[in-house]
Amino acid sequence: MAIDLEAQRNWGLQTRMVRGATTRSEFCETNEAIFMTSGYVYESAEEAEQSFNGEKDRFVYSRFRNPTVEMFEKRLTLIEGAEDCRATASGMAAVFASLACQLKAGDRLVASRALFGSCQYICAELLPRFGIKVDFVDGRDIERWREALSRPATAVFVESPSNPGLEVIDLKAVCALARKAGAVVVVDNVFATPVLQKPLEFGADVVVYSATKHIDGQGRCLGGAVLGTKTFITEKLTPFLRHTGPSLSPFNAWVLLKGLETLDLRVARHCENALKIAHALEERPEIKRLLYPGLTSHPQHTLAMAQMSAGGSVVAFEVAGGKAGAFRFLNNLKLIDISNNLGDAKSLICHPATTTHQRLTPEARAEVGITDSFVRLSVGLENVEDLTADIAQALRA
Ligand SMILES: *Cc1c(COP(=O)(O)O)cnc(C)c1O
Repeated sequence: MAIDLEAQRNWGLQTRMVRGATTRSEFCETNEAIFMTSGYVYESAEEAEQSFNGEKDRFVYSRFRNPTVEMFEKRLTLIEGAEDCRATASGMAAVFASLACQLKAGDRLVASRALFGSCQYICAELLPRFGIKVDFVDGRDIERWREALSRPATAVFVESPSNPGLEVIDLKAVCALARKAGAVVVVDNVFATPVLQKPLEFGADVVVYSATKHIDGQGRCLGGAVLGTKTFITEKLTPFLRHTGPSLSPFNAWVLLKGLETLDLRVARHCENALKIAHALEERPEIKRLLYPGLTSHPQHTLAMAQMSAGGSVVAFEVAGGKAGAFRFLNNLKLIDISNNLGDAKSLICHPATTTHQRLTPEARAEVGITDSFVRLSVGLENVEDLTADIAQALRA
């Protein structure tokens, strides 16, 4: 059944999340179908030929396109307000594809220094191997961006807020500078989610997600997505994905579609709980350097609140006693699980210096504020009094 995607753009956000891009098979099922198929059959050899030479628009192979995956891509397109989207097998596949599809030897990438461990690996180690020059800047300092983007650049990559240090990038200002330098701006919007922040509205060109985080939000599967203009998706990204193959499984696409239906509700509760926990932590003498974008004490609170409609689900802080103190705190938690995932219904905590950012040198970690005392708490959907009580007992222990 054909759908009018342009008409659906006028639906309210919640309607787009629940119903956007839903197609139904001949069986008229209520729920989105899982098209668990790698390939498709043709009526004739002629039809196969036309499908490959572009005369006929249809599904030919699930590495290229799949009906369930396409529902996810189109629904996310509607939610983000983008022109187009491609889904990937994981968030890292999305990050890598968004950069590798447009960069070549001799090009220059400018990235903020505070990045998720694997994003940092791609920018600092992998891309330079292919002759791409990468310059890192302190993403919070607009003068550093002005300096770095006073020369031509091909692309800019930022995370805002960053994982795990919750640094905020002035997206509007950086996008304006990038435009003058001729650079395509890619924003990793995982921490903000499409509910809280719309990078395209600030001038970004490409938005990437790890759908593993809030979009699934229930710890079930990996997934990712890249959104941008029709031209970028069609000309740069799609050929890269078709021929390198980091395709999302139709089953995972279906799980993520279910996740999108409740994303708005879940993110609102995540943020409500996180703010309450951040306020409770403000009262604790054992906590040092508490970071939450929704608190006025966050060094970039005003900017964060100008770009995001709430503070997000992650609270970061330092506990007294260095690594031993942080480990003692984590080990004494009874309800909150130690895990490196985030955006889950279950509250999860991790020690970035020894897990997600273990690969960095102590100096590189220090530059982005990841000390041995630093912990990252992804606040879940549990009863918030139970969470604050768990944190309080673990701090006392
Ligand atoms: C988790 C994460 C990724 C990677 O996503 P995966 O789905 O785990 O591959 C990328 N960027 C940020 C900011 C993340 O938090």
